[in-house]
Amino acid sequence: MINKKVAIVGAGLVGSLWAVYMAKRGYQVHVFDRRPDIRKMKIVQGKSINLALSDRGWKGLEGAGIADVIREVAIPMHGRMMHAVDGKLTYQPYGKEGQAIYSVSRGLLNQTLLKCAAEHANVTFAFQHRCKDVDLDTNTLVFHDEVSGQEVRDSFDQVFGTDGAFSAVRSRLTRLDRYDYSQNYLDHGYKELEIPAHADGTHQLDSACLHIWPRGEFMMIALPNVDGSFTCTLFIPFEGEHALANLKTPEAVRAFFEEHFPDAVPMMPELVDDFFANPDASLVMTKCYPWHYKDRVCLMGDAAHAIVPFYGQGMNAGFEDCTYLNALLDEHHDDFASVLPEYTRLRKPAGDAILQLALNNYIEMRDKTADREFLLQKRIEGRFSEKHPQLWKSLYEQVSFSHTPYQEALHNGHRQQKIMDRVMEMEDIETKWDSEEVEQRMLKLLEIHK
Ligand SMILES: Cc1cc2nc3c(=O)[nH]c(=O)nc-3n(C[C@H](O)[C@H](O)[C@H](O)COP(=O)(O)OP(=O)(O)OC[C@H]3O[C@@H](n4cnc5c(N)ncnc54)[C@H](O)[C@@H]3O)c2cc1C
Repeated sequence: MINKKVAIVGAGLVGSLWAVYMAKRGYQVHVFDRRPDIRKMKIVQGKSINLALSDRGWKGLEGAGIADVIREVAIPMHGRMMHAVDGKLTYQPYGKEGQAIYSVSRGLLNQTLLKCAAEHANVTFAFQHRCKDVDLDTNTLVFHDEVSGQEVRDSFDQVFGTDGAFSAVRSRLTRLDRYDYSQNYLDHGYKELEIPAHADGTHQLDSACLHIWPRGEFMMIALPNVDGSFTCTLFIPFEGEHALANLKTPEAVRAFFEEHFPDAVPMMPELVDDFFANPDASLVMTKCYPWHYKDRVCLMGDAAHAIVPFYGQGMNAGFEDCTYLNALLDEHHDDFASVLPEYTRLRKPAGDAILQLALNNYIEMRDKTADREFLLQKRIEGRFSEKHPQLWKSLYEQVSFSHTPYQEALHNGHRQQKIMDRVMEMEDIETKWDSEEVEQRMLKLLEIHK
């Protein structure tokens, strides 16, 4: 055991995973959360967001030795299924044979991670403790105990801020001189809905896919749950022609869905009730720098990098923070004075890059996945990558099925898009897309755009 007391502020996805890592390293781990203990709550699937877990997330779980427990509640999704307005379905695999991203219920995942952390005798929990402030001189955390109404103070050797997009720990850092911070909201919000299971508990849609209804300015997606339901999310502007602001009556909601998602409506018997029961939720993006303070305070997960959800990478990036920080602790023998600046140096560019990638992917998902030219481009890339795996990995694969730093993936993606723009300009590309000529052209362009 290490005779050092560490605080993890926020027992969400990243905080509870990091608690397992720190417990295994032998620290005295104290986990705080403002909410009640989620392990005691009943998780109703279809009513809770589910998340796509991909390779970076799995690596974070494997590093803590708990991937197998999570695998039991994860459903593989091998590709996207696009639903056109006329009901036509188009399937696009995410990667190569056998590659998949996994749908996991946020609530179940959080419960499972907390249970894994609680198996370690050196982990204690204090729920309904809302962090109000951090005294950076003494590393003292100030909490409001939501049950007793009292203020609670305690000091720690290390503080990890894993308290999400509106982090109180980060908020304290933003008051430091020369601390960089920005927060922006997307003009689009989201609404959660449900496609329940058939009466026999089976899925109404193919559960091996992430379903997308791309409609230009807005889109709906659906991810499968293990109980046979799908959690749907409608992403749509707050204001404008097609907007949450116009969906204020049951008639308007029904008419909107019947016009734009006619194949989904018969599968959503509670559509109107769900629509008005669930809030209009907003999407925030934050950037900050640095992600640490001296050798004591460190931000991880959304507290460091809140991003939009369109690449399904927020949690994955947070789990990757755990992988990196743990590796740095190994490398520097738990010397936080060396580890924390290095952590910021390595991870800040990754956080910025995945935000950019996620913003770009929103346009791709809601707009381009319905576009013939885009689908053709993906087929050309897929064929080329099969033949030349060393030369070409699609951007999606780099982000979801590799551990290439996000900033490198972003850079490679720009380069590949330049090449594909030239390829798509080739005469009769629709008919000769799988020809030797196109392949040779791509090899040549790769030489030019080195
Ligand atoms: C609609 C949507 C879909 C998404 N889909 C995906 C996806 O498919 N794949 C993916 O990888 N990511 C996805 N994400 C992103 C993912 O949800 C987040 O990146 C992830 O939850 C971040 O984990 P975290 O632990 O950093 O923060 P959180 O999960 O937000 O946890 C923060 C914790 O801190 C606690 N807390 C907050 N303030 C305080 C305080 N002052 N004191 C004490 N405790 C506090 C909270 O109660 C909470 O338990 C999605 C996000 C949204 C909104």
